[in-house]
Amino acid sequence: MKKDLSNIKKAKVLLDKKHCVAIPTETVYGLAANAYSDEATLRIFKLKRRPKFNPLIVHYFKVKDLIDDCEINNNFKKLYNRFCPGPLTFVLKLKKNSKISRHVTNGAKTLAVRFPKSFITRNLLRSLNYPLAAPSANIYTQISAVTKNDVKDEFGNKIKLILDGGRSKLGLESTIISLVEKPEILRLGAIGINKINKVLKTNLKYSKKKKIIVSGQSKFHYSPGIPIRLNVKKPFYDEAFILIQKRKYFDKNHFYLTKNRNLNEAGKKLYKTLREIKKLKFKRIAVQKIPNKGMGQTINDRLRRASKI
Ligand code: AMP
Ligand code: MG
Repeated sequence: MKKDLSNIKKAKVLLDKKHCVAIPTETVYGLAANAYSDEATLRIFKLKRRPKFNPLIVHYFKVKDLIDDCEINNNFKKLYNRFCPGPLTFVLKLKKNSKISRHVTNGAKTLAVRFPKSFITRNLLRSLNYPLAAPSANIYTQISAVTKNDVKDEFGNKIKLILDGGRSKLGLESTIISLVEKPEILRLGAIGINKINKVLKTNLKYSKKKKIIVSGQSKFHYSPGIPIRLNVKKPFYDEAFILIQKRKYFDKNHFYLTKNRNLNEAGKKLYKTLREIKKLKFKRIAVQKIPNKGMGQTINDRLRRASKI
């Protein structure tokens, strides 16, 4: 992993030439390109096979770098001071003279921004004179990648460089909050809404019935491409069975998310487990009921979408 620090220079050369580079973050791996360039950002859509109407998150090193691109407000400052760098994405008003490529926002007047925590990615961002547009490094609608090898599995050698940051610490995508008008949670993620409410002194809730402007909001997403049944007590004999906690008696069809029901651990293992099951060529998946609190809410959100094939 350490040696990838030397790859940062290589990444910069490729990014300066408008190529895509996969980057590690604490949530999931990203497929990054120069957010100010039409040519570079178009490459992301092509590689991911992502429809153009789906806007991208832009990654910055620090606040000073984004004030030419979007308007910040008090709520932003409060949340930034508490959680950043970290797994929180802000949707803000785009400034008229911002240099952000129109492909990033699909022509919208808002911009999603984030300050990722990975040491390697922060070093890379610091070395660039543009921010990085970076959606998750997976083919559209498929499972997000949480290791360098996952990214390889998704794209083969179509990407010139994947920076290795080890396994993503959190393993689930960022929470997205819009601060354009009244604060609104657009996607459940790695930061619980209760923590956000504490900082903003609000009582925000997540509503499933929202306009689809966020790709992670579309019903069909995060999918292993295999039918999934949720809240299952007893699986069928040929189903891969995902359990919240390891059982005493091992069955080769069983995949457990935690040793002791820690939901953060479960979040971290979710995508890894789905990939493993896919590789083993199971034809269907059953999942035990996951407690719907804390990170369990985000896990259930992803499972619900993954189950809608
Ligand atoms: P991913 O593609 O997994 O990186 O997810 C990034 C999410 O950010 C997607 O769900 C995007 O649709 C969402 N996003 C990006 N820009 C905006 C924006 N301006 N308003 C709302 N959501 C956005
Ligand atoms: Mg994604």
